[in-house]
Amino acid sequence: MKCVMCKSKLAKSSVNHIVDYNGRIIIIKNVPANVCGQCGEYYIDNDTAMRLEEVVSDLLNNKAEILVLNYSEMVA
Ligand SMILES: [Zn+2]
Repeated sequence: MKCVMCKSKLAKSSVNHIVDYNGRIIIIKNVPANVCGQCGEYYIDNDTAMRLEEVVSDLLNNKAEILVLNYSEMVA
């Protein structure tokens, strides 16, 4: 798998994924992803992305404008 932006190699790592959902910012830390060593672009696989979507939709009941979560705690 290669970076779409710069064609460099990707390495498995974890990232802080930031979602801007209608002006509400949700930060999810320690999300497993394939990260480009060159430009820092990252790619989250489908399973992880689906899990993130579930979590984000759960959070919409919460009125906070900024939320910070830790992915490794969510999937435990
Ligand atoms: Zn890149």
